[in-house]
Amino acid sequence: MTIPRTFYQELADQSLAGHTLDKATCGRILSDSAIELLPLLDAAYQVRRHYFGNEVRVHVLNNAQNGHCPEDCHYCAQAKTSKADIEEYGMKPESEMLEEARQAYAKGASCYCMVFAGRGASQTRIDRLKRIVSTIKQEFPDREICVSTGFVDNSGARELKTAGLDRLNHNLNTSEANYPNICTTHTFADRLNTVMAAKAAGLKVCSGMIVGMGEEHQDIIDVALKLREVKAESIPINLLVPIEGNQLDKAPDYLTPQFCLRVLSLFRFLNPSAEIRVAAGREIHLRSMEVMGLYPANSLFLQGYLNAKGETNANTLTMIKDAGFTIKSDYPLEDLIATQANGPSAVLTDQQKILLKSLKELRPAMYTNLSS
Ligand code: SF4
Repeated sequence: MTIPRTFYQELADQSLAGHTLDKATCGRILSDSAIELLPLLDAAYQVRRHYFGNEVRVHVLNNAQNGHCPEDCHYCAQAKTSKADIEEYGMKPESEMLEEARQAYAKGASCYCMVFAGRGASQTRIDRLKRIVSTIKQEFPDREICVSTGFVDNSGARELKTAGLDRLNHNLNTSEANYPNICTTHTFADRLNTVMAAKAAGLKVCSGMIVGMGEEHQDIIDVALKLREVKAESIPINLLVPIEGNQLDKAPDYLTPQFCLRVLSLFRFLNPSAEIRVAAGREIHLRSMEVMGLYPANSLFLQGYLNAKGETNANTLTMIKDAGFTIKSDYPLEDLIATQANGPSAVLTDQQKILLKSLKELRPAMYTNLSS
């Protein structure tokens, strides 16, 4: 059966008009093989273009404290239950995080995201974060800063907002129904509470999901609808990075390039004005279709993820340029590509295992200082 072109146009029109697609249509986007990929992506692109034009927003993650987490998130190399061979360290000194912010913005980042392992932020950590955020903001008033620091209550969120923080990241990761299958040390409600605290404080919310953790299509739809309900401004869509030693150390067969693109399109239709990020795992799961992710999504991470390496900066920026997109940066895209031609490379080893970052990649400022 050929689906008429009017079906795809209706998806774009409904989304742009602010209407929610009904659940049956959402389910079909994920599962109906008669729905063709290119017209689906074109419809999602119409929505993306309306809000963001041809611009790609580049984020750089800083793994500001690695490992030692008491939680048991099955997908995470920092969980107490993970046997992944990561480089563990406590919170980086403020000078190191500031230097790495400078490096991130110079590489083309519009948003610098500091991520801390652990269940939640103590008052001591909130106080340190306030100092770091305020120092970075003084030097880069026009750039965005995002912090991911576990659970945060209303007063912690307000303090961070007052210090100048733009966004708080706290991913929902999966649906409420599927949550007990991916974590037993906290609940979906715990995560949602932090999202609501950030909202109440006037922070932008960055909250997304990880696809590929055994969820049903309905779980994906539920997360997309919940993020619409809370009006998340930024939605990272991660595709499970199966790190050896994690409880979830294998990606499921259903995580095909076509399915990942359908998921991204669904999130775009349901969250038309949100910054949707094709996030961790794009290189592994989109493979030869990677650039197509930028038609529904308008954002990505540069320089890999928390512990897993990603594509080289130059290759990612070249992919953006080749497809005719631009980036939100003070620097011309061509200059960024030229200056980052020799960055760290390779996502997978010959054995197709996820490569983990070395200490030099996790703490570049430390190594810069040593060699100068
Ligand atoms: S996702 Fe966060 S809370 Fe969960 S184990 Fe990893 S660092 Fe800890």
